[in-house]
Amino acid sequence: MNATNADFSASFPVPSARLEAFIAESHFARPTLVIEIDRVDTQYRALAAGLGPAAIHYAVKANPAPEIIERLVALGSKFDAASRGEIELCLRHGAHPDTISYGNTIKRVADIAYAHQMGITLFAADASEEIEKIAAHAPGAEVYIRLLVEASGADWPLTRKFGTTRDTALALMAQARDLGLRPVGVSFHVGSQTRDPMMWADTLDQIAAVWTAAVAAGFDLDLLNIGGGFPAFYGDAIPHPTAYAEAVMAQVTARFPAGIRIMAEPGRGMVAEAGMIAAEVLLVARKSEDDIHRWVYLDIGKFSGLAETMDEAIRYQFVTPHDGEATGPCILAGPSCDSADVLYEKRPVALPLALKSGDKVIIRNCGAYTSSYASVGFNGFPPLDVMVI
Ligand SMILES: *Cc1c(COP(=O)(O)O)cnc(C)c1O
Repeated sequence: MNATNADFSASFPVPSARLEAFIAESHFARPTLVIEIDRVDTQYRALAAGLGPAAIHYAVKANPAPEIIERLVALGSKFDAASRGEIELCLRHGAHPDTISYGNTIKRVADIAYAHQMGITLFAADASEEIEKIAAHAPGAEVYIRLLVEASGADWPLTRKFGTTRDTALALMAQARDLGLRPVGVSFHVGSQTRDPMMWADTLDQIAAVWTAAVAAGFDLDLLNIGGGFPAFYGDAIPHPTAYAEAVMAQVTARFPAGIRIMAEPGRGMVAEAGMIAAEVLLVARKSEDDIHRWVYLDIGKFSGLAETMDEAIRYQFVTPHDGEATGPCILAGPSCDSADVLYEKRPVALPLALKSGDKVIIRNCGAYTSSYASVGFNGFPPLDVMVI
């Protein structure tokens, strides 16, 4: 297959009419994320169809709603957990320990021991001290080494916080083997919201080079963890999830040996389009009479669920009761008394001139990284409410 021609033709997934109708007809006393659980099904099946033999480990941090975990367990999904809390959540909702990977490279010793005791056998690491911790508290476990990758062009890139270089990776595999662990493979994350599957090419080249070096050094690798990065629709064209996953897998197959275990960890791509937030306009103001921008203050902001507006990286779509009427540029801000709580200012948002305090605003496709990013109560604003329909 020629993976250079990603198909962007199915670029505008129809936003859930059921979610929008439900939110429009309901009353909400505070900002609420409404999840349409059947959309998680649709998304899981679409990704699974494109990923073929790769195992899906849902990245729980994207949205830890128990109903999502339960539904994914029923669909046969596996899970990537980052903490004891996420492991407990998955186990409580029916996931088998065999299906849970402990993918955070920065783990508390007591949590490694807990995971081991519960029967989890697959751990990530990217540092020597972490290998020692895993060897001491999860003896005999399988480990994969997280590799550092160059920025790939993702909308929400991951920094140098995670991963290690080729030579260190090989040294960690040797250390793991010496300490009785089983160094089985490598992992990486291409960057979240990587809209074009061709942006994976450079990263996969880097990973394949490390794989080849490790095999040449005598390591019997059989696990490639391709991480997340699968995009959601926020207004810019993206391929259909199946076409996207197929294009990624074609590039993987071209670079790695046949027959190895492949795991993928979609977070955003699994749940973003399954959720919409019901929000409310608290105030519309102009700083001066001739100000061309209106300031629109919502009842939700950076600290109560919209953290991914940081640097205006993720640009959500808004539905208002006045859509179709004349619009003007707005600076959008949250309700808290922190001046960092401005959502979009560098690129203002066009909103109807008729918009006023009390209007309901629907924020589309924000089922990922919203409820899980909401602070517990900064400035007295409650965490984001979650409701499943
Ligand atoms: C957050 C995370 C993911 C999910 O990334 P998305 O871009 O949301 O798909 C996958 N793997 C790891 C290790 C992560 O930390």
